[in-house]
Amino acid sequence: MTIRPRTVGFLPGERNVFFHILTGCNLSCAHCYINKEQHGANTLTDETMHEWIDLFTDPRKKSNMIFLGGEPTMHKGLAAGIEHAKKNDFVVTVDTNGFLFNDILAKTSPDLLDYLSFSLDGPSAEINDPIRGKGVFDVCTENIRRAVGLGYKVSVIYTLSRKNIDHLHKMAELLMTLGVKKFFIQVIGLRGNSAQSGGDVNDDGEWQVSSQRWLDIVPKTASKIAEYGIHVTYPKVFLEEEEQFQCAGLVAENYFVFPNGRVYQCPLCEDHPIHAYTIKDGKLVRREGLTEQKFFTLDIPEGCVMNKLLQPGNIEYLPSGKPKNRISCCLLKQEVGW
Ligand code: SF4
Ligand code: SF4
Repeated sequence: MTIRPRTVGFLPGERNVFFHILTGCNLSCAHCYINKEQHGANTLTDETMHEWIDLFTDPRKKSNMIFLGGEPTMHKGLAAGIEHAKKNDFVVTVDTNGFLFNDILAKTSPDLLDYLSFSLDGPSAEINDPIRGKGVFDVCTENIRRAVGLGYKVSVIYTLSRKNIDHLHKMAELLMTLGVKKFFIQVIGLRGNSAQSGGDVNDDGEWQVSSQRWLDIVPKTASKIAEYGIHVTYPKVFLEEEEQFQCAGLVAENYFVFPNGRVYQCPLCEDHPIHAYTIKDGKLVRREGLTEQKFFTLDIPEGCVMNKLLQPGNIEYLPSGKPKNRISCCLLKQEVGW
């Protein structure tokens, strides 16, 4: 039976905090989006980490805290940070490259950490390792097995590009073998390293897939993977004719927090100094002047304005000059599965 995907709309009253506690990492993935010039190279102290968790705590809201890096498990204070976020009623996730430093599985527990998400960009070392590094597939899959065995709720994130789109369908079998029931497909963004060699829908750049290929492959494959009992989430990317465009910057509450104190509302803006907020003297301060917020209200036929400005090559036009597809907010998701 084919399971139909559904759109996950933005939920009013929900807050998501994507908290980069350091930018350092043991890997150097070919598509790494970390940009130290813009995001800083520092590691937050434990004290600052806890202060910033408090800063984003609002007991009236259903709140999610996603610890990110760099590689967040390289931070010795991560376990205490997880505990602090849990105490403040966050649903807590850690996104890891799979190396699980500082004995994190032993230092925290499935009661405190709600989800542990591993990044894997291929169903085998042959596909994953040219993107993420030699030997990474083996370490990552071994640690997924350990985490599942210890009772952690584990998910896998697959950053989809021209390099691995043809292998997406083989992920179902691997996830089943590993005991993983939650799978996220992420679209490659033209940020960080991939911005240098990404290409667009009209040329033969290394990374981005054309709209047609995305539409032909991703929804169908996601439904097939869901048939194995796996819950699959992927970005909407293209809006249907009748669907309404919504910018998360206006209708949702997302904070992308970097260790240099920059706080963005839109991840597409992260390579540019147009962050909406900054953390100063322990307070979240709204910035004046040209910030991302000025762009959110612009109404254009192409949909997402930042996509049009930063990745214009992603948009295809009909001979009439009308965009072939409207691009949805990059934070709008489709999900499929029970
Ligand atoms: S694991 Fe993440 S932070 Fe580290 S190099 Fe890869 S993409 Fe960048
Ligand atoms: S991706 Fe586009 S639509 Fe979404 S928050 Fe950013 S500017 Fe708004």
